[in-house]
Amino acid sequence: MQCAACRREAVVFQPYSGKHLCSVHFTKDFEAKAKRAIRKNRWLLPGDHTAVVLTGDAAQAALLVFLYKLTKDRRDVRLSAIVIDEGVGEPAGCARQAAERCGIGIFAGSFAERYGTTRERLVQNEGVAATDWICRVLTGDLAAEIAAANGITRLAIATTVDDPAIRFFSDLLNGTVEQTLFARETVGLLKIPVIRPFMDIPKTEVYHYAGLAGAGTGSTGTTVPTGDSDAEVVLAAYDNRHPATKFALANLAGTLAKIAGKNRITGGTCPVCSGPLENGNCFDCAVRRRYAWRADE
Ligand SMILES: [Zn+2]
Ligand SMILES: [Zn+2]
Repeated sequence: MQCAACRREAVVFQPYSGKHLCSVHFTKDFEAKAKRAIRKNRWLLPGDHTAVVLTGDAAQAALLVFLYKLTKDRRDVRLSAIVIDEGVGEPAGCARQAAERCGIGIFAGSFAERYGTTRERLVQNEGVAATDWICRVLTGDLAAEIAAANGITRLAIATTVDDPAIRFFSDLLNGTVEQTLFARETVGLLKIPVIRPFMDIPKTEVYHYAGLAGAGTGSTGTTVPTGDSDAEVVLAAYDNRHPATKFALANLAGTLAKIAGKNRITGGTCPVCSGPLENGNCFDCAVRRRYAWRADE
């Protein structure tokens, strides 16, 4: 199949746009979308020191490569990487290599050192779904601690359009809308502002971009845990036949979060971390009580 914009052979098909694109025009389209998200949200301002959080997912390596290309000629912004070793073999393998190749400063943290546990051990004790949630909280807190200690002003997270879509769909099926209605604009207990340049891009395209950028193609974990893989499977099947579904869900989730934020119609916020409460409970702080605060004592 020929590229929609030139005579080269297409390597990517975008079911939602109906376009086949070659690697050059795919990259152009991809980077334009990420840049638009950054501009629209004013996510890259003079004086910023942004760090990409890396735990081993190729999407994170893709984000690092993209931000490096975007900022390498700018003297008014600084880019770093925060590598969190969750304890699953090679710490952030391909992502760390990408950071080293770009000559980006690396700050490192480890679950074993900070929390006295590893993702592997958590999976054994808590199961996969709970572990995804726990690791999101613990990684976020640790990344925020490293950021605060090193003058990092923003944390870049490789959220794709799939993440809020799956979260929302799963929330709908489970009747737990609190997570969807709560817009997470900071990371960790120390509340470092977050940027999500890939938020309008499907996960498959992020992995494709990672592959083209030589930053790996696979995933060793999900960027946003849903705790409900059934929902993910059902949504994927539906999305296959209706390719705009994930965009629609993500958009609606964003709109609802804005309305909920303005009208304060969520179940309240946690006095400790400002996260969403569900029936008066903060699930994030429950994780901290179990794994982080115990380690502090
Ligand atoms: Zn082309
Ligand atoms: Zn809390």
